[in-house]
Amino acid sequence: MTTQENLNQIHEEINQAALKWGRKSRDINLIAVSKRQSQDKIQAALNAGHRLFGENKVQEAILHWGDIKPLYPDLKLHLIGALQTNKIKEALKIFDLIETIDREKLAHKLGNELKAQNRSIPCFIQVNIGDEEQKSGIPPQDITDFLGFCRNDCSLDIRGLMCIPPADEPATMYFSLLQKMAREHDLPELSMGMSSDFEQAIALGASYIRVGTAIFGDRKG
Ligand SMILES: *Cc1c(COP(=O)(O)O)cnc(C)c1O
Repeated sequence: MTTQENLNQIHEEINQAALKWGRKSRDINLIAVSKRQSQDKIQAALNAGHRLFGENKVQEAILHWGDIKPLYPDLKLHLIGALQTNKIKEALKIFDLIETIDREKLAHKLGNELKAQNRSIPCFIQVNIGDEEQKSGIPPQDITDFLGFCRNDCSLDIRGLMCIPPADEPATMYFSLLQKMAREHDLPELSMGMSSDFEQAIALGASYIRVGTAIFGDRKG
């Protein structure tokens, strides 16, 4: 199937999941994850009218989007991978939203840079929803404090939560936990669900789903 056909298919599945779970399709935003995909496929998605993309590395995002982003004023790019503090300035040149605020040092330095530039950018906090040793993100029990820190000490515009559930386990319980946390903290946005589990994420309130391979096929490398 072509990239356009895949996109149509995913939109169809989003509509059906929305219908089934009492959601509105327009409340579910599809992030096409273009990391390690070819420029041709990215262009095919743009030609199909898609305008919301996700990348997990700053340098690769600049390679993929540096030249073409200025041609599409309504294009939005989310950072969905770890942000090193020495890449904050570059990230702010290309990304419209940062989903991966995952530690105090990053929140602090990003806050300082935004203040210096006299601007703001919407952000999500990445939650280490399965409390896994090797995963980045804030442990669920620390969210209240960290949210306060981001807002009050760093002046960050935190809009929601993002998570990557543990591999090889059903994601439902983790999606449900993230939904509960977002509700408790009055955060309107929830970024969760990927190619294999976005329907469950929609059932549990996802406002952004991040889909790569189901749109573009297997990644390089
Ligand atoms: C790569 C990636 C995705 C997309 O995963 P697929 O299984 O290809 O849909 C989603 N979220 C994050 C954070 C990723 O790094």
